[in-house]
Amino acid sequence: MNPLFADLPTTIFEMMSSLAREHQAINLGQGFPDDPGPEDVRQKAAEASLSGYNQYPSMMGIPELRDAIANHYGRFHGLTIDAQRETMVTSGATEALTAAILATVKPGDEVVLFQPVYDSYLPMVKLAGGIPKLVTLKPPHWHFTQEDLDAVFSPKTKAVLINTPLNPTGTVLPRPLLEMLAAYCIKFDAICISDEVWEHVVFEGHHHVPLMSIPGMRERTIKVGSAGKMFSLTGWKVGLVVAAPDLLRVVSKAHQFLTFTTPPNLQVAVAYGLMKDAAYFKNMRDTFQKSRDRLTDGLRALGFDVIPSQGTYFLNIDISSLGATDDFEFCKKLVVDHKVAAIPVSAFYAQNPVKNVIRLCFAKNDETLDEGLTRLARAIGKK
Ligand code: PMP
Ligand code: GLN
Repeated sequence: MNPLFADLPTTIFEMMSSLAREHQAINLGQGFPDDPGPEDVRQKAAEASLSGYNQYPSMMGIPELRDAIANHYGRFHGLTIDAQRETMVTSGATEALTAAILATVKPGDEVVLFQPVYDSYLPMVKLAGGIPKLVTLKPPHWHFTQEDLDAVFSPKTKAVLINTPLNPTGTVLPRPLLEMLAAYCIKFDAICISDEVWEHVVFEGHHHVPLMSIPGMRERTIKVGSAGKMFSLTGWKVGLVVAAPDLLRVVSKAHQFLTFTTPPNLQVAVAYGLMKDAAYFKNMRDTFQKSRDRLTDGLRALGFDVIPSQGTYFLNIDISSLGATDDFEFCKKLVVDHKVAAIPVSAFYAQNPVKNVIRLCFAKNDETLDEGLTRLARAIGKK
């Protein structure tokens, strides 16, 4: 068997969710909301299925959805996008990322990545034969510097994988850092695969800047989005790709043999959802922000050292003040003994891991968060 996969552990999300089920724990690990998602969008998917959207749609995505992608990013991010030549629909952002990596990287190419690194990136870079060049980000700000980029970029750099807002840290890359990264991409003629699935889950005081909007990046960025995160429907797995025609053409060749298409009824519903006005997206953000604040305040009152969350469904806790030195052990004990699942952030590092931070998902209803807090209080002997 292929050692790349034979030697891989099961993803940390699946592992912690299984433990949560086994121990009847509250699952603040894997990122999915308690909220069932907007009823009108779900209704559209049901109606579309009943009215005949059930056969293979076009491999690039149904025209209504491709038009809606161009319209949506035009309205929200000021991007001018040719729906026909610059958009594609995939089965989740995960597929889009894989297609983008396979389309860009050939054996021996160097690929710049930032750790904590989302779990699918590294195995897919290795599958393509790429050589990972890792920048290590550390709490509390998780930012990179010019020296970091100097150390990893070279004439062999083919691609860069960036994620903002960043999962698991909950940080949003500010424009000056994106500009710094763009300067390196331009200097070394690298393509940037920009994972922006959390683009609409950004809290007050922070602002998502699409990498593509930075001067010089429009023609060299493959932008990846996820309807799952825009509509709190994580199981739908509808991914959105935007890239200049020369890039997209090759990404679509990889997509045609990964999944080829994505369920058409879901595409109809996502097209409808993307046309929603700004109020829907603001309301979603405000709702998640309230949950973030509820969990943050509750944890701080108990004495936990919370690293502030700027976006995503996640906040992080520094466990060193609790005397803990191993995030995996801490999370295992937490789920087995105290019935709360969390994610150890070291799972997102390939080398020299940060081992004192755990991630909690706050996209839950108030009762779930409050019960989670009660159990966390017990875990540290506060109740
Ligand atoms: N990238 C990041 C950073 C994510 O957090 C996730 C899922 N949470 C994905 C990609 C995968 O998105 P999808 O479920 O649409 O495949
Ligand atoms: N992206 C989700 C998270 O960070 C999990 C996705 C998955 O389980 N593959 O929790």
